[in-house]
Amino acid sequence: SAEAVPQAPEDPLFGLMAAYRADSDDNKVDLGIGAYRDNNAQPWVLPVVKKADEILRNDPALNHEYLPIAGLATFTSAAAKLILGADSPALAEKRTCSLQTISGTGAVHLGALFLSKFYPGKPTIYFSNPTWANHNQIFSNVHLPIATYPYFSKETKGLDFEGMKQAIADAPEQSIILLHACAHNPTGVDPTQSQWKEIATLMKQKSHFPFFDCAYQGFASGDLVKDIWAVRYFVEQGFELCVAQSFAKNFGLYGERAGCFHFVTGSGTDSQATIGRIASQLAILQRSEISNPPAYGARIAGLIMNDEALFAEWEENLRTMSGRIISMRTALRSKLEELGTPGTWNHITDQIGMFSFTGLSEKQVLKLRGVAHVYMTKNGRISMAGLNTGNVEYFAKAVDKVVRE
Ligand code: PMP
Repeated sequence: SAEAVPQAPEDPLFGLMAAYRADSDDNKVDLGIGAYRDNNAQPWVLPVVKKADEILRNDPALNHEYLPIAGLATFTSAAAKLILGADSPALAEKRTCSLQTISGTGAVHLGALFLSKFYPGKPTIYFSNPTWANHNQIFSNVHLPIATYPYFSKETKGLDFEGMKQAIADAPEQSIILLHACAHNPTGVDPTQSQWKEIATLMKQKSHFPFFDCAYQGFASGDLVKDIWAVRYFVEQGFELCVAQSFAKNFGLYGERAGCFHFVTGSGTDSQATIGRIASQLAILQRSEISNPPAYGARIAGLIMNDEALFAEWEENLRTMSGRIISMRTALRSKLEELGTPGTWNHITDQIGMFSFTGLSEKQVLKLRGVAHVYMTKNGRISMAGLNTGNVEYFAKAVDKVVRE
């Protein structure tokens, strides 16, 4: 009977957001959710998105008809170019397919579902430890066995590269390896280009399948091309792979759920026929799950990506966001160093993207919440975008206090 349904735990991140909202203290600081905030701690609608929104709203031809199953074609093709490069041989050889999804989460899910149905054997999917918490439940829900590879070194607060390589080498052949394309969530730690090359070599040797999760392109460094280097490198090396792409952060389109799933096959003689079959199966899965994706966010992102002037303005907006975050990293590190806070703080500026893995313990995190009204996840992750010139010193002093206790 229905009474047998057990209580599920509250989502930790959304629970944290609710606790923040309920706190009436004037000094409260929200470093939980990974959403960009401006220097006044407010959500920021990108000026270029506002512009595109106005163009769309004033278009008398705009209607609310269904999109095709695979989504808005002008959006998905621009999204593929953004990931692979306009001059990508994979695109020229027509060995890619792209479906619009419910943001990045939907793209990860569609990929997971597809692999669970069509990947030969029952492959294990390996995540970094730690990873975005949702990976675990998305892949578990489609009954793929899951495992982890070491990623974060507590000692250096950087990459545990040896541990990562060992686990990839030890994984059974043809495992699926989930990789964060850039700005790793939650650690902010990415492999260097030469480390990516070694990872690719190892994965080739073991015939592993790369599953890239790309939620922060352009958001990390402010440069769309630089941030996607690893994916393009793997494609160049001839891997068959897939990419889950989110436009939540880089367009600030969080609630509009604009995303895309891409599959790339290797360059063989029958690669076009192969990708055609893959696309046909993805379309069936998409139809059964969401029928067709939501239109508005894709229209906004598509309009911007297909217009040279709007695209340039978008790049400018990306530099504004990433620039502010980088300046907060510098500010936080220098405040902690000025205060002489015990420990080293170079990792704050070494890490990149939305998040920093501070190294604070769960106990310290809870103390910060109780005493200073600072909200961050228990693993010590902070969303850098929650810091601004008005609260960075307050936060640094609070950290200094709990670290000394
Ligand atoms: N993957 C990673 C690593 C993420 O950090 C996020 C956003 N938190 C996503 C995927 C997907 O987010 P969304 O569904 O909002 O696009």
